[in-house]
Amino acid sequence: MNLFDLSGRTALITGSSRGIGYALAQGLLEAGARVVVHGRNAGAADAAAERLRTATGGETMVETFDVTDPESVDDGIGRIEAACGTLDVCVNNAGIQRRAPFVDFAVEDWNDLVATNLTSAFLVGRRVARGMLLRGRGKIVNVGSVQSRLARPGIAPYSATKGGIVMLTQGMCADLGPHGIQVNALAPGYFATELTQALVDDEAFSAWVAQRTPAGRWGQVSELVGTLVFLSSAASDFVNGQTIYVDGGMTAVV
Ligand code: NDP
Repeated sequence: MNLFDLSGRTALITGSSRGIGYALAQGLLEAGARVVVHGRNAGAADAAAERLRTATGGETMVETFDVTDPESVDDGIGRIEAACGTLDVCVNNAGIQRRAPFVDFAVEDWNDLVATNLTSAFLVGRRVARGMLLRGRGKIVNVGSVQSRLARPGIAPYSATKGGIVMLTQGMCADLGPHGIQVNALAPGYFATELTQALVDDEAFSAWVAQRTPAGRWGQVSELVGTLVFLSSAASDFVNGQTIYVDGGMTAVV
């Protein structure tokens, strides 16, 4: 028996039209899952799903909804369940970044960060868990960040949302664990995507990341896949409420 085999499983990965979500989608497809590719921009999600199908030969579906809007979340997950039944795996990955000095931070940006990075995991997790509870099994993976452990200037609200993900994950484990559902968090270090483009372009910052990381470099998005496959599969059936940092050692050292 292959503990990591995801054949016959259906997974939703929010924000999988690009970046980390896209790489995670490719990884779950290669492990045998059917993957629902998601974002707000339908054209981008369609194109991503097509590229993933070509690259992996796997089965993809596309769903678009705004993870910050309760009605949109309920309708979107309702459509997925109508098409393929209860989800086996849900990865709450969609997220945004905003940067500003703390005293200048706009309340609109705070609200956007909380809604997209934290409320989203509550809304999507709550909706998918209803189906999982009826079936008595399921895997939910919330995407956190090293910023739940390490603070940096200019991103206090982002760090607060990612700190929230750690305890939301533990709280969901407390509620859902007794019913056969595992809820864990995958917390990436620094990876080059659209979200971090400004940091990649900043040579001094980019060099600081490499120097600050025991691995001596930024991560590659494909390096997040192994942990996600583990957290999505039978291999992690007795792992619950944990946050796993995939960061080249960054949070382990000062
Ligand atoms: P990207 O900006 O590359 O991708 C973000 C994805 O989220 C897109 O698919 C986007 O699609 C979707 N999205 C954003 N807002 C919404 C919304 N309101 N509703 C639905 N979908 C939405 O980001 P990354 O891949 O870099 O980040 C993915 C996750 O990883 C985030 O949670 C981020 O905080 C986390 N992370 C990233 C790190 C990094 O180094 N890159 C480090 C640590 C954590 P669309 O625009 O079509 O809506």
